[in-house]
Amino acid sequence: MIERKISRFGVLLLIFMLPLFALAQKGEKIQTIVIDAGHGGKDTGALGKVTTEKAINLAVAKKFGAYIEENMPDVKVVYTRKTDKFIELSERAAIANRNNADVFVSIHVNSTEGTTTANGAETYVMGESKNEKNLAVAKKENASILLEDNTDAYDNFDPNSTEAYILFSLSQSMYQKQSLDIADKVQKQFAARGRHDRGVQQAGFLVLWKTAMPSILVELGFINNAKEEQFLNSEKGQTQMALALYRAFEDYKREFEAENHTAAKPEATKSAATGDTYFAVQFASRDKKVASTDKAFSGVKEVSVYEYNGAFRYISGRFTSKEAATKRQAELRAMGYKDAFVVAFVNGERGTIKQAEAALNGK
Ligand SMILES: [Zn+2]
Repeated sequence: MIERKISRFGVLLLIFMLPLFALAQKGEKIQTIVIDAGHGGKDTGALGKVTTEKAINLAVAKKFGAYIEENMPDVKVVYTRKTDKFIELSERAAIANRNNADVFVSIHVNSTEGTTTANGAETYVMGESKNEKNLAVAKKENASILLEDNTDAYDNFDPNSTEAYILFSLSQSMYQKQSLDIADKVQKQFAARGRHDRGVQQAGFLVLWKTAMPSILVELGFINNAKEEQFLNSEKGQTQMALALYRAFEDYKREFEAENHTAAKPEATKSAATGDTYFAVQFASRDKKVASTDKAFSGVKEVSVYEYNGAFRYISGRFTSKEAATKRQAELRAMGYKDAFVVAFVNGERGTIKQAEAALNGK
């Protein structure tokens, strides 16, 4: 019986994968993000002592979306839910596909059996579970479909059957590289905010299965760990997690668009960028703009230029932490740019290190 179920499921899987290939060519800009607050309504998700997973997911999703809406007027934010309501997993993916989203982020909180000491954040992409722990997370999250009235979309997929998950490994490749890239950026941002880094993981999640774009599922922490629950239930904790997601998305968007050559060119003259807050390393200043930064500053990575007090200032890199910029400063000094120093930009304008730090840490 199980075999028959799997083969029907497998055929369906392949049919669903075909349109994904057709959609492989995305635009050159990141224009739409779908933010998915996991669970909702009758589906509470994991339970804590004072709150529920669905409530934390929604709070962080709304904050994350608000950061994008405030700072990225060129990005459309679509929420799968903005209230406490039940939505099928297949519908969440369908919302992303209907909106032709460029990125899909599903937000969840973890919980384990029998222990209250597990802690930290991890980010999943669609793929084969490499261990029992990841499989358990997927099984737990996929169990939401047991509350759905009509599960035709999953063709008898049994979220508790280990065999059923083997097929998921087939559907990982389309956007996996980009998904892994976003996941990696998210984990870096979590770690930068002092969260225990549980790394980028893979497992078969029904909510990610049919999304036709780079997609991740984040597990913010453990609701059955009292300390973690307190953090995730707090204004500060939710702000930190939302800000981490925002910074990761910002990094991904910038890199994606730079690769596709449609974003603001690095050679912008007025300011290095607009609406952005980051650190960079200033390593040279010229009265006239150089004809080619590649020639003038051979070997210097990620060069851009901005005008300040009548001179062209050349900077290297864009970092979300001062530590990372200081590392670049050391590299540049070793290359002979002995006066290289860390500069900060706040909303695209030169600012102080302190201002940038405050803006980046959401203080
Ligand atoms: Zn969940």
